[in-house]
Amino acid sequence: MLANGTAAGGQLTTTTDIENFPGFPDGIGGGELMENMRKQSIRFGTEVITETISKVDFSQRPFKLWTEWNDGPDNEPAHTADAVIIATGANARRLDLPGEEKYWQNGISACAVCDGAVPIFRNKPLFVIGGGDSAAEEAMFLAKYGSSVTVLVRKDKLRASKTMAQRLLAHPKVTVRFNTVATEVLGEEKPMGLMTHLRVKNVVSGEEEVVDANGLFYAVGHDPATALVKGQINLDEDGYIVTQPGTSYTSVEGVFACGDVQDKRYRQAITSAGMFLTFSTQVTDLADLLLSPGSGCIAALEAEKYIAEKESNDEEPVTSVEKSTVQPTQEVNGEVKKESDGATTEYKSNPLL
Ligand code: NDP
Repeated sequence: MLANGTAAGGQLTTTTDIENFPGFPDGIGGGELMENMRKQSIRFGTEVITETISKVDFSQRPFKLWTEWNDGPDNEPAHTADAVIIATGANARRLDLPGEEKYWQNGISACAVCDGAVPIFRNKPLFVIGGGDSAAEEAMFLAKYGSSVTVLVRKDKLRASKTMAQRLLAHPKVTVRFNTVATEVLGEEKPMGLMTHLRVKNVVSGEEEVVDANGLFYAVGHDPATALVKGQINLDEDGYIVTQPGTSYTSVEGVFACGDVQDKRYRQAITSAGMFLTFSTQVTDLADLLLSPGSGCIAALEAEKYIAEKESNDEEPVTSVEKSTVQPTQEVNGEVKKESDGATTEYKSNPLL
């Protein structure tokens, strides 16, 4: 386990099959998908360093990054970077119910859109916990697959927006049970057995009952992994990184964010897809540094553009004497390369981008 209790590779490594990632008609295991992304990235020259970054300093350039156990006031930063992409994700909250660990991914999921279409849920009674927009959205999505969907709301009202709440309450296949919580998940005892029942409790009357339930979907919120950057870049009231709409730009120039750490709405592998790269001060070695696989084609393109512009702005004006020694550009494998006399740094486009 690395940062935020997540394995190297991020949230997808803790899921089983991913059924909604384009290009895999039979689905693909989360771990396998991440391993493939890692291999593909390395094939194009990325150096992947598997370690936890525990402290950053974005107040000066180059940005500084310290690793876990080596982040004391006297420690030099392990890495410096001209540009950083934050793609640390968010963790779906769990409830720690009795039976949760046993039936996690064997009936229990924190993502209906990712898992709802798998055969074990077809025409079966399904439950959603939560009263927000995610719960409403997930319940209506699940209604396409389950025989019925029951939403358990701990209070006497929904937190979801008015429109979503109205649509949820009017849905013919959805029942909303207010003042109700789940207290235990029950199911098959055999190894890899599936959940079959749920114990629920009315918090007003105290009444408990066991109901048929073949699927349980948590929609009780996420915790974005932003403790690392708190106080250094702008976060919203829920702790998500604020990016300029339609971009990965954060409040600090040169720091980009992508994936679930700045997206509380879509949270899908495909909307987050790409890779995390942290770009080093050596702009000649663009595919240089760290973090784990996961997110951010947009951020990668914007970070690359940022580095390229920085590179060209940093270049000294060429004198007439130097001009005569500069070699003409030449194209190698479709890539324009400038033959350097050693005095000028060379920008090499990442072929993955
Ligand atoms: P929210 O924080 O809005 O809602 C979480 C829900 O889970 C609340 O109803 C909360 O109950 C309930 N909850 C929390 N802990 C427990 C618990 N221990 N037991 C039972 N219930 C619990 O999270 P969402 O993921 O729904 O939404 C996050 C943000 O994303 C919101 O701003 C939302 O508007 C947005 N969003 C927008 C969408 C859209 O526009 N289509 C879709 C999805 C999300 P309580 O109300 O009692 O606190």
